[in-house]
Amino acid sequence: MLSVVRASYAVRNLLSAVYRTGSSNSCQLSHSKSRHGFIKNISSFHKRSTEIETINVAHEKNALSLKWKNGELASFHSKWLRFNCRCDKCTNQTSSSWIWPAHKVPLDLTLKSVNTSDNGDINIQWNEEEHEGILTKEHLLQHSYSEENRRRLRDETKLQFQTDMTVAELSWRDVQSSEDSLYRWLRYIGDQGICLLTDVPAEHHYIKNVATKIASLTGTLYGEILDVKVLKNVINAAYGRQALLFHTDFGIYEAQPGVQFLHCLKFDDTVLGGETLFVDLYHIAEVFRTDYPEEFRTLTEVPFTFTRIHYARDAPVSYGSPPASL
Ligand SMILES: [Zn+2]
Repeated sequence: MLSVVRASYAVRNLLSAVYRTGSSNSCQLSHSKSRHGFIKNISSFHKRSTEIETINVAHEKNALSLKWKNGELASFHSKWLRFNCRCDKCTNQTSSSWIWPAHKVPLDLTLKSVNTSDNGDINIQWNEEEHEGILTKEHLLQHSYSEENRRRLRDETKLQFQTDMTVAELSWRDVQSSEDSLYRWLRYIGDQGICLLTDVPAEHHYIKNVATKIASLTGTLYGEILDVKVLKNVINAAYGRQALLFHTDFGIYEAQPGVQFLHCLKFDDTVLGGETLFVDLYHIAEVFRTDYPEEFRTLTEVPFTFTRIHYARDAPVSYGSPPASL
């Protein structure tokens, strides 16, 4: 038997395809449908020194130029600085949410004075408004929109295609006890879109412990956890003995779950088949874009809708999602 659970996760959805060969009772692998470079962004940011070396008001008081001790340079527009003020009047310090009335801020803002505080943050006053602004050095470095920083973010979020036959493997025991293993697990999910976890206890619904280690669960029309087992009168192809061709899950949803977890609970040695195969649809889309540009254009530009209409279920459903897009 197989348990399937979906989770929300702060990364972008992407298509992956699953192929399950015909069998009697199971398949295996932990399956992620998502990846994004945000994990890399976090790690690389923390390696960069945030100490500011020099500050200069430039462009007729319309911009602030900064140089960090690590050599990085950045320039911030006076209006951007006002909109990113982190003082108590503008930002709730515990939730980090903005609380200031943006519509009351003058449209034209020029810098009146800029100073560095004892802890290295930047204090700013503007000519057109009575306000003591504060911008932290960390916020400025992390959100720098310099050409260099934007290039770095582009590089760090560049997709890595999964074209070899190797699936990264980690022990669930290690993931639970070691932050290094936990980080590697997140990186595999983010970068490669897939990771096999071994040593997960074969207990019914234990998969919830695994998923909630890194995310909150997403409810679907199947509930939080779906038990996949062979049934006689199948209401879903997943419950049959036949092979499931490559497919994507939850195309009918406007926002698909970020990560999907598959947990193999039982797999007898006598069973033939039951393997789970994965392909990287991002890579296939890229190859298809190059080799079949006209067909690729048709697939990406002609509107169509994923639908699932099933009134015979205990809880009848009629789902439809917007056209697929890149
Ligand atoms: Zn403020």
